[in-house]
Amino acid sequence: MEFKMRRLNIRQLSFKLGIKILNKSRAINKCLIALLFVLLIFSGGCGLNLKPYSREFFAMDTLITIELYAKNDALGSLALNKAEEEFYRIARLTTRFSSPDTANTKEETGNLQFINANTGREVEIDPELWYLLSRCRIWGERTNGAFDISLGAVSDLWDFQHGGQIPDKEELAEVLEKTGFEKVFLVRDVNRVLIEPGVSLDLGAMAKGYATDKAAQILRELGIKHALINAGGNVYTLGCQPTGEPWRVGIKHPRKADEYLEILEAADTAIVTSGDYQRNFISDEGILYHHILNPETGFPATESISVTVIGPSSFEADILSTALFVMGNKKGPEFAKNFPQFKTIFYEE
Ligand code: AMP
Ligand code: MG
Repeated sequence: MEFKMRRLNIRQLSFKLGIKILNKSRAINKCLIALLFVLLIFSGGCGLNLKPYSREFFAMDTLITIELYAKNDALGSLALNKAEEEFYRIARLTTRFSSPDTANTKEETGNLQFINANTGREVEIDPELWYLLSRCRIWGERTNGAFDISLGAVSDLWDFQHGGQIPDKEELAEVLEKTGFEKVFLVRDVNRVLIEPGVSLDLGAMAKGYATDKAAQILRELGIKHALINAGGNVYTLGCQPTGEPWRVGIKHPRKADEYLEILEAADTAIVTSGDYQRNFISDEGILYHHILNPETGFPATESISVTVIGPSSFEADILSTALFVMGNKKGPEFAKNFPQFKTIFYEE
């Protein structure tokens, strides 16, 4: 750990320590209260009469894992089923692509594929998607365009979905003309949207975060008090562990596959990382090209390696992690100060 920390500059290191102390004390307070409460109610104490249940499945092009504790098999499998279904539901709503879990998406109306196939005319869309687009527009403005959901056509040229390729310069310049969150017009109260012709929306920077929040909400409503959802770079800790201890979540080292940058202790917290190591390819010249794009150039953002955002909402942490990644290690930490409910870890080599 000492060695890993030396790689960060002094300001970030103290900031990091700040996070850890803050996070830990808040997490421990919550867990102590939960622990006392459980001790009062059950003489068995501490939720130890709960059984662990877990599931792995593939959605949103990501391996998702859910671990939870429930008092019986019926509740355990119901909770896993409902949370898994929620990921598929949100994938169908937000994906740009057809995939096994979103096979009939193209035929459905009101979802993202429908919007992208109907640019240039006002269409009615799913109210939940309308809400998501309106949040994304606000975040587009807030981040001065660093977070931009209109980069679909640029992402298509890079084609990271199928391993990636460097786009033709002229083609890239042409599609860049058809980007910009201001090309998305939302008609208030009637769930209608108008996207300028040829603009392609891509919600890849927030869909997993949103789905993670929604799945956690479903678990909560079913009475689950202890769960851990891991959707690739998006982790959510629901409550603490049944022992009363906070969950421990490792932040991957972006350059050393089997090492962690830090182990965080967390309860009721989202931990989201955007990194250049998550989806990328290396060119013949040895240059690494990754999937988080600078909306101004249409090329991968070059100012960051890995950015982690820790806070109450996985949806917003996901948006912020992508935006901060684009802003980079110099501008990003300053901008993040506007959102004190979120803590950040910027990795520097
Ligand atoms: P994340 O891993 O959450 O940072 O999201 C990266 C994904 O979001 C990419 O695979 C693209 O689909 C999309 N994306 C890339 N660059 C941006 C950007 N600047 N703003 C919004 N979405 C982006
Ligand atoms: Mg993101």
